[in-house]
Amino acid sequence: MTDIPRPDNENLTRDEAAARARTVHTHDYAVDVDFSRAADTAVDTYPVRTRVSFDAEPGASTFLDYLGAHVASIVLNGVEQDVAAAVDGARIVLGPLAAHNEVVIASESIYSRSGEGVHRFVDPADGATYLYSQNEPVDCRRIYPCFDQPDLKARFRVTITADDSWHVAANGALQSHHPAGDGTSTRVFAVTEPMSTYITTFLAGPYAQWHDQYAGRTASGVEVAIPLGIATRASLADSMDPDAVFEITKRGLDWFHRHFDVAYPWGKYDQVFVPEYNLGAMENPGLVTFTERYVFTSPATQAQHEQRANTILHEMCHMWFGDLVTMTWWDDLWLKESFADYVGTLAVDEATDFTTAWTTFASRRKAWAYRQDQYPTTHPIVADIVDLEAADQNFDGITYAKGASVLKQLSAFVGPDTFLAAARAYFAQHAWGNTTLDDFLGALHEASGRDMRGWAQAWLTTAGVNRLRIETTVADGTIAAAVLHQDGVDPRTGEEVLRPHVARIGVYAPDGDGPARFETAHPVRVEGAATPLPELVGTPADRVLLPNDGDLTYAKVVQDPHSLQVVLDAGLDDELARATALAGAWNMVRDAELPVERFADGVVANQHLIEDSGVLAQVLLQASAGLASYTTAAQRQRLLSRWATFLVDAVVDDPAPSDRRTVLLRTLFATLGDLQDPVAPLLDVVRSWLDDADVALGEELTWGALVVLSAHGRVDADALRAAHEHAPTAVSATGLTRALAARPDAAVKDAAREAAYTGRDAAGAVLSNDHLQATIDGLAVDPTGAGAGHGAEYWRRIEDVWTAQSQGQATRVVAGLFPSDTELADGDEHTHPDVRAAQEWLTARADAPHALRRIVIEHLDDLRRRLRAQAASA
Ligand SMILES: [Zn+2]
Repeated sequence: MTDIPRPDNENLTRDEAAARARTVHTHDYAVDVDFSRAADTAVDTYPVRTRVSFDAEPGASTFLDYLGAHVASIVLNGVEQDVAAAVDGARIVLGPLAAHNEVVIASESIYSRSGEGVHRFVDPADGATYLYSQNEPVDCRRIYPCFDQPDLKARFRVTITADDSWHVAANGALQSHHPAGDGTSTRVFAVTEPMSTYITTFLAGPYAQWHDQYAGRTASGVEVAIPLGIATRASLADSMDPDAVFEITKRGLDWFHRHFDVAYPWGKYDQVFVPEYNLGAMENPGLVTFTERYVFTSPATQAQHEQRANTILHEMCHMWFGDLVTMTWWDDLWLKESFADYVGTLAVDEATDFTTAWTTFASRRKAWAYRQDQYPTTHPIVADIVDLEAADQNFDGITYAKGASVLKQLSAFVGPDTFLAAARAYFAQHAWGNTTLDDFLGALHEASGRDMRGWAQAWLTTAGVNRLRIETTVADGTIAAAVLHQDGVDPRTGEEVLRPHVARIGVYAPDGDGPARFETAHPVRVEGAATPLPELVGTPADRVLLPNDGDLTYAKVVQDPHSLQVVLDAGLDDELARATALAGAWNMVRDAELPVERFADGVVANQHLIEDSGVLAQVLLQASAGLASYTTAAQRQRLLSRWATFLVDAVVDDPAPSDRRTVLLRTLFATLGDLQDPVAPLLDVVRSWLDDADVALGEELTWGALVVLSAHGRVDADALRAAHEHAPTAVSATGLTRALAARPDAAVKDAAREAAYTGRDAAGAVLSNDHLQATIDGLAVDPTGAGAGHGAEYWRRIEDVWTAQSQGQATRVVAGLFPSDTELADGDEHTHPDVRAAQEWLTARADAPHALRRIVIEHLDDLRRRLRAQAASA
């Protein structure tokens, strides 16, 4: 493996990018990559030839971005350049420039193991080699020299040389195919429309393929025909369900053509499911890449199928919002991500058969946003992204989930039709260009006739989450007065933040032991700190009142004690209301306002009411994590034992495979990783399931079980290796890594920690992203405390990790190894030794990279929150 340390000038700044965009105007690229030796893992680079033509200010100089292994030659406007002088760290300096320029560069780029750039994966099932690329935000420069910023769009002509039997693809359609006679061939792809570097794509390997055809029309009647393709590793072909994916794709294309009224702009539409992918998917025009976790090799719940549909439609939305119209710089990343997140969910709800898109959104997506928005590192939706490291960290719960929640609120504010009309106008005006927030607000202003600046100021340029709470006065068994209170602070400044909310107050009537029945909902416009609710006067005092019924706005819901009691003990009879109310209760647990065991009892009481397996999985895991973190040592094992016993009994009582059983088992295995004693009888049951053909766990749950059995010393390394060799798939390979690192042995834990810090296994081989993560995950499963007590090492080594590994890999290590052996007995949120160590590091290392500090600050905040909740429960 070729190692290059991260160069000092890798972190391009916004000012540098803006200056470069003023100096150069890009036209087109020709990129020729040669993957013909990819199957030989002793060869860790591939040749690349890049030609870029661009206009410039005559006499000026500029630079290309490149993080390759080696530059062989640079020819600028026909003149050979001095490579040693031109290559400066992450940059290739060019100048003096002419009015029109052509630069040709021959170089060697590195096969990635981190999922950044061209990733190489060898399938453990059959030894086949697979390549794919991932570029956002700035890993295109790992593949070929380029102006790697979103506003320097160009047309791309790509050729790929590779094994002739492989499937090879790029953004453009295959145009011609030239066999070399030696088993390789060069394939030439159609020149693309103008697009940004971060969405260029390269794919090669013996992928299995499926094909179909879309035919439809836009709202204005333009006929559209699109060749559709799906690909995945050959060894996963039997698990692929292409018909379901094509069906969602076609319905989605119909939906977007109807609502956006712009024909799909990128020719073909291929969707490829790739191994060791760092994210859910990427919206490369014409060649969308997805995590192969969406190829279900184990029993998958309805929620997982819905999540896949959501991701398919999210990426499809980007074909217009993001790819056709692109943010100028990463400050406006949210503009495409929030939009795709919101509109993707809307499309799932309206265009597919899934009925739970908005309950999943209320329960899971928003939990991510609420959590992120309470960190001291939170930021306004419109972020201030000064450089690339900041951009890389900004793919977060604010940019995606809060932004989407706020667009849902915007849609309630201006009306859904107006919202989509604004989108149509925006595409018509800015197609193929780059934009900022003002352009989108301009389109909204046109469509709605309203001045959107006040709304944007309140929602997009402030940070923090509001709380909504109803206060009532009761007389003679009915409500005599009611007020909706709003509060909120910006966690960065402590200043008050209040916002306008379009919301609904739900009224539910208790019904004995059954769930409370929906009675009515009152629309309400919230302004300021107190909003009178005259609609509620005369309502019987026993009614459950749910602020934010329908989950229209983004706010933490604090329920009054009576309503909360009904929500937890009896539940509500509406799926979205139930999800919203339980999400509010979970926020109260996190804020130390509700004991976690009360929440867990509520989950048990609600479990048979909850229809959406995504919501059920979410609340079960919240209860499990909460019982492990928000309780003191004195309570913890008793509560976890009771919880694990409930989970085991629930599975034993209803053992037939079902979505419910799957999520119960996932929660059980997470819980058993924290449980010390009395665990043996529960482990006996888990052990018996492994040998029981009727239980049919599938590979994912089998490895979930093996990891906890390993962590409790109930299965040894030989047995684990035998289980992997029995079915040597990618899932079992990472399962094995996790299970081995989970063994309750200090020497094993030391070795796993060393592997994480160095990014290499004991034999010195570089760990891929998935295996690095599996090592960290296995290390964390430590019920016996075999790996505890290495905090000092962490603070000594994290800056070296940050310098030596890519940002993606380093983030896994710094986040995953953060010392948090949280025991209130050792100190509270101010005095705990882990809190103090983190604070001391932050003080001493004020000049450490901002992105690294951000991870530490967020984990410190989690730690302090846990200690606060423990203190409240003690
Ligand atoms: Zn996206």
